[in-house]
Amino acid sequence: LPSGVRDLLLSRITDVADYPKPGVMFKDITPLLADPKAFGALTDALVALAGQYGATKIVGLEARGFILAAPVAVQAGIGFVPVRKAGKLPGATLLQSYDLEYGSAEIEIHAEALCADDRVMVIDDVLATGGTAAASLELIRRAGAEVAGVAVLMELSFLPGRERLAPTLGDAPLDAL
Ligand code: AMP
Repeated sequence: LPSGVRDLLLSRITDVADYPKPGVMFKDITPLLADPKAFGALTDALVALAGQYGATKIVGLEARGFILAAPVAVQAGIGFVPVRKAGKLPGATLLQSYDLEYGSAEIEIHAEALCADDRVMVIDDVLATGGTAAASLELIRRAGAEVAGVAVLMELSFLPGRERLAPTLGDAPLDAL
């Protein structure tokens, strides 16, 4: 990322302490979304990565991943596919459970959303523990497609997300802008 773009994006991300619970430093991207220059620069950077990956589909992770991924899909001229929290997709789905700090979570994809020759780029705002991203890669492979790469706006490098994701990622790239 050019340093000017990096600085612009960083200036539009707000740290909110103790949200949604004590001890969490929440990365609020709503100022970035409200600034078309910053949102556009982020979209351009992600579109360039989609080209590098040779992506044929964009998967966005609920909920902020949807917002970042949708304009990338349109600009890149390829389809958008949502990975949603369980119980929100109307068609036949594949479901993946994964562990959280306390308890577990479940995400789904439409079983027919991807095909065997798809190369899928996954987009989300924040990589934290890596659990959500790892589960989404499992879904993409179970749906029969190939993972082309994972791109996030931010990686919380004090958490072992990259390590947790590594075995699932295999040879695919993980880019944190
Ligand atoms: P994880 O599965 O732990 O990697 O968490 C990733 C998901 O939780 C992403 O969809 C993020 O949107 C959200 N998330 C986790 N930590 C934060 C944070 N500090 N600020 C904003 N979003 C976060």
